[in-house]
This record gives sequence, C-alpha cells and structure tokens, in this order.
Amino acid sequence: MLKVRFAPSPTGYLHIGGARTCLFNWLYVRKLGGKFVLRIEDTDVERSKTEYLEEILESIKWLGMDWDQIHYQSQRFDIYREYAQKLIDEGKAYKKDGAVFFKYTFSEIKINDLVRGEIMFNELPKEEEVIIKSDNSPTYNFSCVIDDALMEINCVIRGEDHISNTPKQILMYEGLGFKVPEFAHLPLILSPSGGRMSKRFGATSIREYKQDGYLSQAIVNYLLLLGWAPGDNREIISLDEAKNIFDIKKVNKAGAAFCMDKLNWVNSEYIKNKNIKDLTQDVINYLQSKEFLPQDIDSNYVQKVVELFQGRMVKLSDLLDWGRFCFYDDYAYSEETKDILDKNLSKEVSVLMEKFSSMDSFDKDAIEKEFRNAAQGLGLKTRDLVHPVRVALTGRKVGPGLFETIEVLGRQEVVKRLKRLCEYWEN
Ligand code: GLU
Repeated sequence: MLKVRFAPSPTGYLHIGGARTCLFNWLYVRKLGGKFVLRIEDTDVERSKTEYLEEILESIKWLGMDWDQIHYQSQRFDIYREYAQKLIDEGKAYKKDGAVFFKYTFSEIKINDLVRGEIMFNELPKEEEVIIKSDNSPTYNFSCVIDDALMEINCVIRGEDHISNTPKQILMYEGLGFKVPEFAHLPLILSPSGGRMSKRFGATSIREYKQDGYLSQAIVNYLLLLGWAPGDNREIISLDEAKNIFDIKKVNKAGAAFCMDKLNWVNSEYIKNKNIKDLTQDVINYLQSKEFLPQDIDSNYVQKVVELFQGRMVKLSDLLDWGRFCFYDDYAYSEETKDILDKNLSKEVSVLMEKFSSMDSFDKDAIEKEFRNAAQGLGLKTRDLVHPVRVALTGRKVGPGLFETIEVLGRQEVVKRLKRLCEYWEN
C-alpha cells in the first residue's frame, strides 16, 4: 500500500512552499489510493509552538485536504534513543560528550527520483554525524529516517531544498537495515525574477492569504500550477478534478516562479464562477472576521452587493475598500472627486430625487429609464448627471454600473445621499 507523509515543523506558519508539498503528497495518494500521514516534526521544543501547529492543521483543512494519521515526534524520543542504542551496540554509532554520533559507511548512492530521474550523489557527507544531541533530542535526518521507516512511508515527496539530506538519509536507512523508500523532490518555488522567494514575493503564510481575501479553492488551484500542469493549457482546475488526473511524474524539474498577478487572476476567476449563495457566505464570513460587518447582517442585502461586485472583484478584501459605500455612508467628498462636483446641479438632482421617490418599482431597468428621461427633460447629457450622482452615492469617480448600484442601495438610501449632495452644493 502506498504511504506518503507531509512532515511540517511547527516552528512557523504554513507557507506556500509547505502547502504545495502537502498538496502534491495528498493528490498523489488520493489518486492512487493509500494512506496520508501527517507527521509533526516538533523535536525542537524551544521553537515549536502550539499556535503554529494549530494554524498548520487549520490551513491544511481550509485548503480542502485531510489526513489519515497524525504523529508527533516529540512523543517518540524513546524510540529514537532505542534505535541509537541499537546502532551503538552494532558499532555503527558511538557516544561522545553526551551526544550520539553515527558513523557513515559509504556506498554508491543513487536514486531514481520520481520527478528528477536518476540522481547520483557524488558528494558524500562528512564521516560522522550527530543523531542524538546531548539534550536527548534527535537530529532531523535521524528522526526522519526512523519515522519514515517505522511509519512504512514508501514514497517521500518533499521540496528540492532537502535534496542534500537525501544521501545522508539513505546511508542511515542502510545502517539501520531499513528499506530505502522512493523519493520525489519537488522543484523550488522562486521569486518572479528567478531568485529566492521572499516575503515581498508571496512567501507568506496561508493564513495571511486567507486574511487577505483569497478563496481557498483559488489558492489550491494556484499551488497546483507551481510545478505541475494537466498538459492541455488549462489553468483552472479544482481540487476534485486534480485528484483524478494528478501525475507526479509530470511534475517539472525546473523551479516554478511565483507570480502574484497569476494568483490574483485565479482568485478572480473563482470569485466570478462561484455560486452566488456560497460566495455571499464567504464574503459574510470574511467581512465579519474583519469586524467590518455586524453579526446580524442581512444576508439578502449582502448577496445583492456581492452580485454587484462579483464580476470585478479580485479578492474579497476589495469590498473593504471599493465596496465600502454599500455598508457605510461616512465618506467625505475627496479632492479627487471635487472637480466633478464643481458645477452646482442641485435643482437637477432634486428633480431626479422626486422622480425616484414617485417610481412604482425601483429596479435597475426602471431606474435607468427614469434617469435618462430626467436628464433629457433637464437638457443634460446622461453622463453629466451620472458623474455627480455616482460621487454622491459611492464617494468615488468609478465603480460598478450606476443603475445597478442605485437598485442595490435602495430608494431610501439613494435619496438620503442625494440630499446630502444638494446640501453640499447649497452651503
Ligand atoms: N520537517 C522538515 C521540514 O519541514 C521535513 C522535511 C522532509 O519532508 O523530510 O522541512
């Protein structure tokens, strides 16, 4: 049975790179069938934090993945010591200054990496290596090998940044008499210019992406494209679909450049195509998490706002800014919009308000008709009236279609905001 693992260290939040490693493991095992082990590598007691652990588990779930087993290395120190003792007894390790050292026995080290093909490791590790530190904690290479062997992991999928550990680990498998698993080293994720990923170029945690207004489906889809593609130029692929077609052998060897614009595009596609009810719920959760909306918000109203913005939203956070006027009217007319309000049209706008007040049904089409008629009757071009009215209703020069906006805000609110504009002109 196939058994893979994702082995995060809870010394930080789950980042893009870790999430991609988790995803490729998960897809591989869900496609072929088998078990997915989550192994928490919390041997560094000082640096491991519950807060990080909780975020890692939460982010994995938020992205839509699950696991079949979870193990904590901090609970397995006895096992590592037992194996270290075995190596000492066999003369393959020795104790000095409270630490245990493993003596490498060199042999030809060659693997057939599922991504990179055959790799010959010519550079061999130094002669010996600490496997148990004087504080009794194991070092990474040792605990990793023991656990991969005891947990019967037969395919190790991890980032290429670990490739230098692989020969050491292979020698340890051999020293311990364990079977060496298969390996798949995933390409590095690089900055757009090909350098190391940095915080400025997207090397932030999944949690921050969530707080920034990205949808989990879009993040997962984007992660998928970091080193893999279905081969038919498609870029929008759901997790469910990827699960059926993912092939680790088709993962690229070359580093994958992280592109924020691409991620934004994927996010906007998911927003555009999401069922309106589900998207509305996402928006409510998001805006409430930001304390932007109260708990008792009218979801029908939010849905109308979401419909207004769905086609143009890149991130849910756009609503905090571009969509703010739908929930708050405390904006002032800014410098930027002042030129539009130069000309006093208070008489004309008053006529428009009266028309709005006396309309039967207040829907977009009727609003548009009434609006155009009013402009014509007043000897104005429609746009001469559109601009100031938009500023009055939204505080901005640009925004969603004005007639839809008027319908969403509703008659009462619209009249109230137009009155405010007239007062501004009159004072
Ligand atoms: N704890 C290691 C890390 O987070 C795991 C490396 C591995 O997958 O072997 O990088």
